[in-house]
Amino acid sequence: MTLSVDATDAARNIVHSKLTIPVRPGPLTLFYPKWIPGEHSPTGPINDLIGLKLSAAGKPIPWQRDDVEMFAFHCEIPPGVTTLDVAFDDASQPETTASAKLARIKWNRLLVYPRGMNSDAISVKAALKLPAGWQFASALSIAGDGKDELQFKEVSLTELVDSPAIIGGNFRKLPLTSSGIMNEIDIVADTPQALELKPETLSGLRAIVQEAHALFGARHYRSYKFLVTLSDHGGSEGLEHHESSEDGVGEKGFSDELELLDFAELIGHEYAHSWNGKYRRPSGLATPDFEQPMRAELLWVYEGLTQYLGKVLPARSGLWRAEDFREAMAAVAAELENQSGRQWRPLVDTAVDVQFGYPSPRAWMNYRRRVDYYDEGSLIWLEADVLIRTRSNGKLSLDDFCRRFHGGQDTAPMVKPYTFDDVVNTLNEVTPYDWRSFLNARVNAINPHAPIGGITNGGWKLVYTDKPNTEIRIADHTRKSVDFSFSLGVLLKEDGSVMDVNPDLVAFKAGLAPGMKIVSVNGRAWSIDLLHEALASAKPNSAPIVLGVENGSFNETYKLDYHGGERYPHLERDESKPDLLSAVIKSLSNK
Ligand SMILES: [Zn+2]
Repeated sequence: MTLSVDATDAARNIVHSKLTIPVRPGPLTLFYPKWIPGEHSPTGPINDLIGLKLSAAGKPIPWQRDDVEMFAFHCEIPPGVTTLDVAFDDASQPETTASAKLARIKWNRLLVYPRGMNSDAISVKAALKLPAGWQFASALSIAGDGKDELQFKEVSLTELVDSPAIIGGNFRKLPLTSSGIMNEIDIVADTPQALELKPETLSGLRAIVQEAHALFGARHYRSYKFLVTLSDHGGSEGLEHHESSEDGVGEKGFSDELELLDFAELIGHEYAHSWNGKYRRPSGLATPDFEQPMRAELLWVYEGLTQYLGKVLPARSGLWRAEDFREAMAAVAAELENQSGRQWRPLVDTAVDVQFGYPSPRAWMNYRRRVDYYDEGSLIWLEADVLIRTRSNGKLSLDDFCRRFHGGQDTAPMVKPYTFDDVVNTLNEVTPYDWRSFLNARVNAINPHAPIGGITNGGWKLVYTDKPNTEIRIADHTRKSVDFSFSLGVLLKEDGSVMDVNPDLVAFKAGLAPGMKIVSVNGRAWSIDLLHEALASAKPNSAPIVLGVENGSFNETYKLDYHGGERYPHLERDESKPDLLSAVIKSLSNK
């Protein structure tokens, strides 16, 4: 089929799509991609498909949406017709895929295909029209640059959907490799200034490509592009592909210290997915089209190991300091250890439940648990790494698992599905151990405590001090929050609104709940500083912290009997054991 996308109105959050689909006379059902790879969920934005019109040789063809499967459209192809014309618009919600100066072109939003066909078996010739003066980047190869339309080489529907484009008026392209398989970073930003990259950031990005190759030992892409969008209004994204990744952060992603640390982790995470997620994929997530439901119980590997490598790779490549790595692991360990929801559901349930996990609200998330297969997964893989290093006296590590599981020969993109048994078997090939029980105990059983053995056996202790934690500062900066999770047991928005409470700690016990808003602290109007001061002054005495709280149209006063001061997690060296965390983040390519 052919797909012609007109993105000249992208800045207005509307993109126009026209398809020609070879057909035979008789009943036909068209399907709009529903299950989106990397999102592990039926998140195809069907509500954004508007203005749908079918026709053949200029004559309209009526359609009816299926009354159960709302992503399917039925029609009847008249005798003699061999080509169906489809036209519709993709009207995205403001600030989701575009800003005024840039956009992400996600092909799955812009097409329908004959229902039931394997996406490998459909070939698509795509074309893209850009707004005047805008440039583009995509893993797709160009067949020709027409007068006002880019023509891409014909690819399978699978590859097309896996190869989005970024477009924008402020554009920059930088190579990350000088020979061999090409890696590059392509950037679109709201302003030309935002495109400026520090020399050490660029050398860190070049190093991360070397580190990933040294880690896995092979690549499963023909070339690779980081497709970066920098905007506070529609820039944000993180989505993995075989030969590219959508790496979207704020406008100050390259200049603000905290945002740059966050960007480095995003890059590490999405890049590692080319191996762990795209090439090696849980069999339940390796589906033949965009309609079959995905089964997500192995997301603690797909996302959990990637979350771990997404911290290890920036540290190995110099984008993070060793201290940044430890602060990140401390924040993760503390959050999971203080997760009250771990009392009622095992980690695997957060993975099985993925369809509801991503959109689930922040309210009660400490009790509910959200997508914990990411962070708790990363703790499990750190523990496995430290265990392999300990049992082999430092000769082997999780790197050896990755080389066996994700490496082999350089190949073009391909999918090699795996099962739980494959993970256990490969771990056993590296270091014989009862890995099945190790994983079952941490993944499939309810655990009152977080799996922090990687930290403690790796020569470090989880401690709490009044010094802010870097990773928590990043999270607060990004979501405009103030995190008192480990002291009062409450996560607040900057305006005093309660985002979440820990049911085991003092704020909840005093009466606070998500949705309420703190309007005063010890009799004075709300400010963040005032609450920090209240914690400090309550520490040496027995007077409670008094909070004036709005609950809907009612006002209440709550007394928090808390005298522990500020508490933020950090790692402290345990000299009785070797420092394996430092061994984990040692550069492989710079030996
Ligand atoms: Zn991911």
